[in-house]
Amino acid sequence: MNVSETTPHEPRSVLVTGGNRGIGRAIAEAFLAQGDKVAVTTRSGGAPEGALDVRCDVTDAAAVEAAFAEVEAAHGPVEVLVANAGITADTLVLRMSEEQWSSVIDTNLTGSFRLAKRATKGMLRMRRGRIIFISSVVGLLGSAGQVNYAASKAGLVGMARSLARELGSRSITANVVSPGFVETDMTDVLTDEQRAAIKTQVPLGRYAAPEEVAAAVTWLAGPGGAYVTGAVIPVDGGLGMGH
Ligand code: NDP
Repeated sequence: MNVSETTPHEPRSVLVTGGNRGIGRAIAEAFLAQGDKVAVTTRSGGAPEGALDVRCDVTDAAAVEAAFAEVEAAHGPVEVLVANAGITADTLVLRMSEEQWSSVIDTNLTGSFRLAKRATKGMLRMRRGRIIFISSVVGLLGSAGQVNYAASKAGLVGMARSLARELGSRSITANVVSPGFVETDMTDVLTDEQRAAIKTQVPLGRYAAPEEVAAAVTWLAGPGGAYVTGAVIPVDGGLGMGH
């Protein structure tokens, strides 16, 4: 067994995409609180204090390559990748443009592929690593008006499970965290009526705080998650039960 997998306070090189706000920021802060070396990539900057602030649009393969080079130079090879950056472009299917479809797939799914592919390079050499994709309850539940988003999030499950099979022999795990409704800018756009309706569907009767999603991510990346791979961990207040 590898020593760094059993020592929770051994600082590791952690990369969190979309870590300037919302769920990604809470994840980055949780790793920082553990003493890890954290890099945060976003398009607009504003990483939490103590994190390396890297500009990177995940739809740009060259930018992803440059971001990894920057992180590796500062912190060493990425040992924990959290692919969190994501967008929505909601509308009913008949109105959904090719652009609305492809921009969401390119950011949420293909972006995560670019990151995982690049991270795998260093992880294979180290013979250890944790890849965590932030999906959504709607990936498996479906959601009217989110054909693009739900498809992108369901795709992450197939990708994680394939990576788990491909990379397991090198002690690299690949998992999915699947949040329900979380208090962030993304859900801020919902009306009071929509919010009230959503809460009636959630057994716990409330939204999640971003920190509650971060707790599942640090667990998967820590010693407790060493034997977990190809899993979909729901953090959804029970909304997606049975899926
Ligand atoms: P926010 O909208 O608050 O933040 C999105 C983050 O992604 C920002 O940091 C943004 O930074 C970054 N981002 C978006 N597009 C790109 C891009 N092309 N390249 C690089 N970074 C990008 O989202 P949340 O915190 O709410 O969501 C985070 C993740 O959790 C997403 O994947 C989302 O789908 C998922 N999720 C959210 C839920 C919720 O209820 N909020 C529920 C289930 C899943 P910048 O704009 O600076 O690039």
